[in-house]
Amino acid sequence: MSSYDVDLFVIGAGSGGTRAARIAAGHGAKVKVAEEYRVGGTCVIRGCVPKKLLVYAARFAHEFEDAAGFGWSLQGADFDWPTLIANKDKEIARLEGAYRANLGRSGVEIVPQRATVEGPNAVRLADGTRLTAKYILIATGGHPNLGPAIPGRDLAITSNEAFHLERLPTSIVIQGAGYIALEFACLFAGLGAKVTMVHRGDRLLRDFDDEVAERLAGEMRASGIDIVLGATIAEIAPEGEGRRVHLSDGREIVADQVMLAIGRQPNTAGLGLETAGVALGDNGAVKVDAGSRTNVPSIYAVGDVTDRLQLTPVAIREGHAFADTVFGNKPWTVDHSLVATAVFTEPEIGVVGLTEAQARAKGYRLDIYKTDFRPMKATLSGRATRVFMKLVVDQKTDRVLGAHLIGEASAEMIQIVGIVLAMGGTKADFDRTIALHPSAAEELVTMRTKDPSSDGPEPRLPEQSAESTPAI
Ligand code: FAD
Ligand code: NDP
Repeated sequence: MSSYDVDLFVIGAGSGGTRAARIAAGHGAKVKVAEEYRVGGTCVIRGCVPKKLLVYAARFAHEFEDAAGFGWSLQGADFDWPTLIANKDKEIARLEGAYRANLGRSGVEIVPQRATVEGPNAVRLADGTRLTAKYILIATGGHPNLGPAIPGRDLAITSNEAFHLERLPTSIVIQGAGYIALEFACLFAGLGAKVTMVHRGDRLLRDFDDEVAERLAGEMRASGIDIVLGATIAEIAPEGEGRRVHLSDGREIVADQVMLAIGRQPNTAGLGLETAGVALGDNGAVKVDAGSRTNVPSIYAVGDVTDRLQLTPVAIREGHAFADTVFGNKPWTVDHSLVATAVFTEPEIGVVGLTEAQARAKGYRLDIYKTDFRPMKATLSGRATRVFMKLVVDQKTDRVLGAHLIGEASAEMIQIVGIVLAMGGTKADFDRTIALHPSAAEELVTMRTKDPSSDGPEPRLPEQSAESTPAI
């Protein structure tokens, strides 16, 4: 009999916490999970899932326009935001129910309140109850960064509120140029809002391939989105029912809504981690080793709160590895390299592995392959959109180090390319694969000519040079 109330107490029933709780319970552990808001966490309640539903809604706008070239004539296509939001909410409630049911079926008890840490083996619930646990898992996720306290900041929304607006904004200013800013810019624009993006840097998507980012900026601008670079929002003031936005470069914009999408911060404030001596990084993220263990042996952390890769499948993997390792006698760790990711913009982006710049910084000599073409559908629709693909190949081993796609179906394609890269796939493997025609994906296996940006052959060392080779 354990001397603790539970074997595992999980704080946070999001992607990482629910997976860890279910797997640990499956290994026979007695598990409770505390959730202060809604079961499912950011991804299900106000992240990936509702976002993708809104993205689908926005994409109908292009579909309707494109249909004309294929002979369709559509009249009176009206969009109703409240219907979309109500249907989205219904689906989110269904998913939350499924998460609850899965936890229940696994024997995990859900504690519907906030929990904080009171020591290496103790947690305190909001109702005052104190519980002891052999292990504690911190899976509290993150929240939107609000940036500096500029005047009128509270007039801005974040992604949290964007999912619950009473009406579709007619115009919106969005600050940031990462995943959330870009996805919301494209979806609001698709639904008919006038969108202005404001970004402090000189390009979108800092850590992405620069050509992919440039192409996205080009297509977003072509679709009517204004992108203001090298500026920040300095002040927000009320203006009728909307807002007047003052930018750091002196510009002023009047818009219905202002949205901040400038990164997310780990949920560790007030969590009591200091009482247990858990070490945090500068941004408040919980510091963990490769096995998600903190410096306190009985406390682990997974997901966004550790600020490794803020992606749902990564949080899920980390939670699963933790539970197998600690409760299943099956130790394994998560490989954070080669994680495929997509940005659901218009057009969408799919990437996996190293960018050209990252590979060069690591000292690789590279062969670069690129293709840039008009997708077949655009021939009849007339839409000015293109598909761009880039493969980053290690010259020495022929191994494909990275794939960078922008254009229709890039998210779907990159998941499969991720398998190839995880298997150590080479450019020769791509080349010997017969194309599937007609598709965009076939271009991935028909890139034959090296791009001029490839490195030349490796210079030979003096002792290997022809001159220095002794004549036999
Ligand atoms: P979360 O899912 O955030 O779960 C943490 C849970 O802990 C929350 O439910 C919270 O209420 C609870 N909690 C916090 N503190 C306490 C406490 N003290 N007591 C009790 N409960 C507590 N990722 C993708 O892979 N693909 C996408 O398309 C994608 N889109 C996104 C879109 C948006 C708008 C956002 C914001 C994120 C998106 N993400 C996406 C990221 C993804 O949502 C996160 O990486 C993922 O949810 C992290 O899971 P987690 O378990 O670490 O935390
Ligand atoms: P990101 O880290 O992707 O982007 C943050 C953006 O905000 C960057 O452009 C950054 O600029 C800018 N920024 C940061 N701080 C400030 C500041 N103080 N003032 C002005 N600009 C600032 O964060 P997001 O909020 O977009 O998303 C959070 C995470 O959620 C993502 O990193 C991703 O992991 C996950 N996510 C995944 C999605 C997906 O898989 N499709 C979708 C949505 C979110 P700079 O480049 O100069 O630093």
